Amino acid sequence: MAFTLDPLPYAYDALEPHIDARTMEIHHSKHHAAYTTNLNNAIAGTDLENLTIEEVMTKGFEKAPVRNNGGGFYNHNLFWDILTPGGANAPSGELSDALVAAFGDLDKFKEEFTKAATTRFGSGWAWLCAHKDGKLEICSTANQDNPLMPSIGCGGAPILGLDVWEHAYYLHYQNRRPDYINAFFAVINWDKVAARYAAAK
Ligand code: MN
Repeated sequence: MAFTLDPLPYAYDALEPHIDARTMEIHHSKHHAAYTTNLNNAIAGTDLENLTIEEVMTKGFEKAPVRNNGGGFYNHNLFWDILTPGGANAPSGELSDALVAAFGDLDKFKEEFTKAATTRFGSGWAWLCAHKDGKLEICSTANQDNPLMPSIGCGGAPILGLDVWEHAYYLHYQNRRPDYINAFFAVINWDKVAARYAAAK
């Protein structure tokens, strides 16, 4: 069964002024669409065809077209999901406790996440991952890799991800990746991150 590009669960302009509508539209309707099409082409007629995307990440990641396009498909789905205009604008409950346990406080978490996102050379992603014991960890990965791929990144389940490819910010922020990273923190839906955290443990 082929993977499908779901529509964004909000309007392209819903994250203005932090992430502009034109960037969102091109990012979703061109970049994410291309990953989806190319993933389907890469798995058609293979034993990966009837797997979930999570299974494709662990079983197909050694094949470059599957790794690049499957990662692109999965990563962007996660990204759209945790970027919403509604929801909690700060973590609470057990997620907040886990962030404090791992990083000290929310500002320290933001500092470490920003460092991971800023220092990723070239294209890639920064991640907050939850391990099965509930511990949180930050890492970054290159290209469209992600921590579900064996021995890539920090392992565990990604519960928050930031796309730092230039296509994610160049139209509005040009070369100012740090400004884009800062804006990202204003549009995280922490309810969604908390749900992913609860499911990951
Ligand atoms: Mn992207």
